[in-house]
Amino acid sequence: MARESSREFQERIKKEESTEFGRAPASAFANAIKQFDKAAERIQLTPNQVAMIKLPRKIVEVNLPVRMDDGSIRIFKGYRVQHNVARGPAKGGVRFHPDVNLDEVVALAFWMTFKCAVVNIPFGGGKGGVIVDPRELSEAELERLSRRYFAELIENFGPDKDIPAPDVNTNPQVMGWFMDTYSMHQHEYIPAVVTGKPLEIGGSAGRTEATAWGVVITVMDAAAHLGLDLKKAAIAIQGFGNVGSHTAKIFHDMGCRIAAVADISGAYICERGVDIAKALEHTAKNKTLEGFEKVFGCRKMNDPLDILELDVDILVPAALENQITAANAGRIRAKLVAEAANGPTTTEADDILEKKGVCVIPDILCNAGGVTVSYLEWVQNRTGYYWDRERVNDELKRITQQAFRDVLDTARFYDCSLRIAAYIVAIKRVTKASEIRGLYA
Ligand code: NAD
Repeated sequence: MARESSREFQERIKKEESTEFGRAPASAFANAIKQFDKAAERIQLTPNQVAMIKLPRKIVEVNLPVRMDDGSIRIFKGYRVQHNVARGPAKGGVRFHPDVNLDEVVALAFWMTFKCAVVNIPFGGGKGGVIVDPRELSEAELERLSRRYFAELIENFGPDKDIPAPDVNTNPQVMGWFMDTYSMHQHEYIPAVVTGKPLEIGGSAGRTEATAWGVVITVMDAAAHLGLDLKKAAIAIQGFGNVGSHTAKIFHDMGCRIAAVADISGAYICERGVDIAKALEHTAKNKTLEGFEKVFGCRKMNDPLDILELDVDILVPAALENQITAANAGRIRAKLVAEAANGPTTTEADDILEKKGVCVIPDILCNAGGVTVSYLEWVQNRTGYYWDRERVNDELKRITQQAFRDVLDTARFYDCSLRIAAYIVAIKRVTKASEIRGLYA
């Protein structure tokens, strides 16, 4: 089969599947449902149980009028999806991106339900998005859009209803505007309505690097399970943004060897180990790793997808969805794949990796560190007592390691992959909560 480039793949999947929530690249929701169905079949979930937990409970679409700096009014389409609230209020980020579409928001909300359940934090799943390229907006326009989004959907949000957080292209400042908008409407300070806030207004210590810490903790546990010596292992990390760069830094500081890193500009390989401090310095100055090979003297491959096929022990996809596909899964040489990104592996690729005996730490477990520390932020907001970074990281470690043990025990019991096991653990928890609550009216 001829090698498909990253661009060719993205072009092809744009033409593919559509679902009841609209057309979407490779239909993220169709992919999510396939994972769910496999696990549900394994535990023989009844049709009633499936009906209670599979589809999103609430979808809200809004057209947001925003006054631009030149006086004109532009309409932006926004969404909020609450997938399931059986175990607690909906929880999930808000994404600002030109490619946002309902199918993707539904899939992301769906993953949040099962992510919160697998790490056993008392939240359901939600997600939001606005179709916008924030780079085209001034700071003032971005603030007006953020506030209008929150105000328009205010009935849906609340510390016990639905708690947003940052996602692609939204940051602590946007969370600050969300929290202020809500608090102004309620006439009181309510920080627990949003997480991922700046520290000065109720954010938690350790939130920025929490997802990366979660990735590292699950990799340490999986390496112990596989008998892989982390100090001798070669690691490759695709994506050098929040999750990828912090993961690289933590591993580097632990004395591990990062043999390659990649971002949108390409893959950078150095078998003796990439100097992560230099890479961070480079991206702080230049935004991307472009030109890093000249500064550091490493090999560059122009297609960032190439990093996936390197001869390494551990591969961390930390960039985008649909990176490991049927087109490249057969050539992956790593023994362990840690899904730091959401949905980086298609279901077809997952089957190929499983047959090859590659251990995959599934996204809903691997990247749950962010939402776990969001939960700790919400707890701190509600008690009014704030913890130091050490306490936050200790709690994160305890929760993540317990989740890893639950998933590993389940994988052994059902003789299945960690992904199916993670879904089994999560589906059982959501189903149980739904049944205990019962069906109102
Ligand atoms: P980010 O925007 O900070 O970084 C994304 C990185 O991916 C950048 O380095 C970018 O250059 C790179 N990239 C983009 N396109 C690429 C391509 N085609 N090939 C290789 N690299 C490419 O995003 P982030 O917050 O680090 O999130 C990364 C992934 O992790 C996403 O899937 C996100 O949903 C998931 N995630 C993030 C968090 C979090 O707390 N930030 C939590 C859970 C899951």
